[in-house]
Amino acid sequence: MSPEGQRALVIGGVDHGENNRVVYLFTERGRLSAFAPGAKVSRRRFLGALELFTTIQVTFATRRRGELETLESAQVERSRLGIRADLSRIALASFAAELIGKVAPEGEASAGLFQILTELFDQLDGAPATPPLRVAFELRLLSLLGYEQSLDVCLQCGAGGVEQFLDFRRGGVFCGLHKEDARSFGPKTATWTAGVLASPILDAAAGCDQEWAEKAAQKLRPALTAFYSGLLDRPLKSEGLLLELGL
Ligand SMILES: [Zn+2]
Repeated sequence: MSPEGQRALVIGGVDHGENNRVVYLFTERGRLSAFAPGAKVSRRRFLGALELFTTIQVTFATRRRGELETLESAQVERSRLGIRADLSRIALASFAAELIGKVAPEGEASAGLFQILTELFDQLDGAPATPPLRVAFELRLLSLLGYEQSLDVCLQCGAGGVEQFLDFRRGGVFCGLHKEDARSFGPKTATWTAGVLASPILDAAAGCDQEWAEKAAQKLRPALTAFYSGLLDRPLKSEGLLLELGL
């Protein structure tokens, strides 16, 4: 690894033996696990750097073939205590980290994915978790993964019109004739969706008022759930708590 280190988000970890931890990180290289020797006994060694949802600068020791990365140093860049103080923020941040860890292509550079997860954590550090924030994150993630969506006219016949239907698995909107099991996608939901996808930042308002964003998010949830369940081999562990909290 480069001597100046790289940025990583702490997304989990487990104790290992009496003294050590294995920490789960998300970096621009995707998800990775790293061995943190002495992390349990010597808090000073990593100084709060292995706490959940923290952005850290890390360096790794020289890696032997077939072994986990070993943390050599880790320094806090941003600790995000605001997330850790609120259960619904913890739930959404954990869900996002688990989802992105599962769907990110393995071993591929993913600066965009690292950026969007960082933005979500930053927002949750300073503001409550809301359904539009969750849905906006899932929409941006879908697009960053390369599943471009066509949201203007029916993908099959080119028909426009007010009443359209959305299926993320089939790549966008369809008319009533070609909807199959696509879900109703009204003009207000379409406006919010297009705003979220066009924004260079993670933007759960997307120029609409809060009630509008809430309704759009509610409309889109089933279509997103259908899309992501097609990518995952089993439901995410963190989703139950999210649903319990109304997110
Ligand atoms: Zn059609």
